[in-house]
Amino acid sequence: MTVRDPSTADRTIGGPGTPEAEWHAWSGWSELTSVGLDDLVPGGTRLVVVAPHPDDEVIAAGGLLGLAAAAGRSTLIIGVSDGGGSHAGSDEWPRPRLIEQRRAERLAALQELGVRTDVVFELDLPDGGIGAAHERLVGYLDGLIRDRDVVISPWRFDGHPDHEATTSAVQTVIAATQPGRHAVHLQAPIWGWHWASPSGGQLPTAEGAVLHLDSAAHRRKITAMNCFTSQLSADASTGAPAILPDFVLQRLSRNREVFLR
Ligand SMILES: [Zn+2]
Repeated sequence: MTVRDPSTADRTIGGPGTPEAEWHAWSGWSELTSVGLDDLVPGGTRLVVVAPHPDDEVIAAGGLLGLAAAAGRSTLIIGVSDGGGSHAGSDEWPRPRLIEQRRAERLAALQELGVRTDVVFELDLPDGGIGAAHERLVGYLDGLIRDRDVVISPWRFDGHPDHEATTSAVQTVIAATQPGRHAVHLQAPIWGWHWASPSGGQLPTAEGAVLHLDSAAHRRKITAMNCFTSQLSADASTGAPAILPDFVLQRLSRNREVFLR
């Protein structure tokens, strides 16, 4: 089936999104190629996860990161933004406190996954402003991505502007003319699971792979996600709901991870 590129209007993130029960019953699961760690991150390659915000690395690839760490694969986490934009106008979370908190949450989550926390490279671009920092981000990534890396970033049609801008920069770097660089780029839907739907057919399953997490890997991922406490509870000072309410978490804490080409 030919999948057309979703429009900007299609990719609007609002309301409760597509329930996980609908995704659970999705026929597309069987169209995805089932893969393991060695297929995704072969021995001798490095896993690089480019996360627009602190938590996206775990949401997108926490299971894979845990497996890669256990197998001794070289890993690099690139944190693009400082995460300081999730609680606008909050007295409970003034920006400097939020940035420190989210940095600590990320390190705690990576420790739960067994990932060495000295492999985190934080670029501290402004949360919500990654698109405007495209040239800077391309420059940073160009210096960090190496030949034969396996690079994971959000789906290019993920719907969140920071997520799409991050992946646009990764695409620019990988497509660049540096001779001899043969990095592999995989894209993980994050907010795509929210706006897309099984009946919409927006996810290009023919180009996709699914990693089924065993119970230990799944448990580690859930434990890691629970470290992002600032994203999991409502903000009493503004009345804003949690950034990741239960109906979102249900989609993001399933026991399989999808990577698209
Ligand atoms: Zn994000």
